[in-house]
Amino acid sequence: MLFASAILAIAAAPVFAQQSAQPKPEETEVWTPVPPVVTPGATDSAPPSDAIILFDGRNEDEWVSAQDHTPARWIVGDGVLTVAKSAGNIETKRSFKDYQLHIEWKIPENITGSGQARGNSGVFLASTGPGDAGYELQVLDAYNNATYVNGMAGSLYKQSIPFVNAARKPGEWQTYDVVWTAPRFHSDGSLETPAYATVFWDGVLVDNHFQLQGQTLYIGKPFYKAYDRAPIKLQAHGDKSEPISFRNIWVREIP
Ligand code: MG
Repeated sequence: MLFASAILAIAAAPVFAQQSAQPKPEETEVWTPVPPVVTPGATDSAPPSDAIILFDGRNEDEWVSAQDHTPARWIVGDGVLTVAKSAGNIETKRSFKDYQLHIEWKIPENITGSGQARGNSGVFLASTGPGDAGYELQVLDAYNNATYVNGMAGSLYKQSIPFVNAARKPGEWQTYDVVWTAPRFHSDGSLETPAYATVFWDGVLVDNHFQLQGQTLYIGKPFYKAYDRAPIKLQAHGDKSEPISFRNIWVREIP
């Protein structure tokens, strides 16, 4: 009897060893850190509870002139922020590194001009200084308006070509939802990792983790210049077409 059970134990041993090496689902479960609770907006366009509101329709207190940092002097009315071309570009008082941005924009119904001179503005995802080009996500009428495709709406200016044209008609509100990963620099100013941008235009993915080659230049080859945090800038383009409008602008910093 004793002999028989010993045999049984020996015979069963490999089976037990196999069973104890069997991975358990609990081994790959992570319980901490628990993500903080964020209350979503009433719609997916409305700011969630942890958003920094950059424009809620009431005032431009979060914005200054990009030129001299005096208070912004664009036009606020009917819950909308409209470009005042004579007042120049405006930028946020706050500076950001990596973030999620929501911004809505409208080409006027009576837009005139063509190509780059038809509803041109821009969202500079990082405004790194008055002498710098920065990093521009183009704003332009794209409903029925031919231009170079790496300079159309949805492009990271002169670098990306949006996957598709998701334009709404002039007079209708359009949205950009952007994920911006800022470039990183070594202490000597050389590039450590490039900038990346993901852009949804009217809910449609048009740039997917696009790697920028540097600042978005009007002329010449892009290059990087070291910076750490930067404001977000809106463009008052010098063309003669009707000024465009913005509303519902909010940002969430990515930890
Ligand atoms: Mg522009």
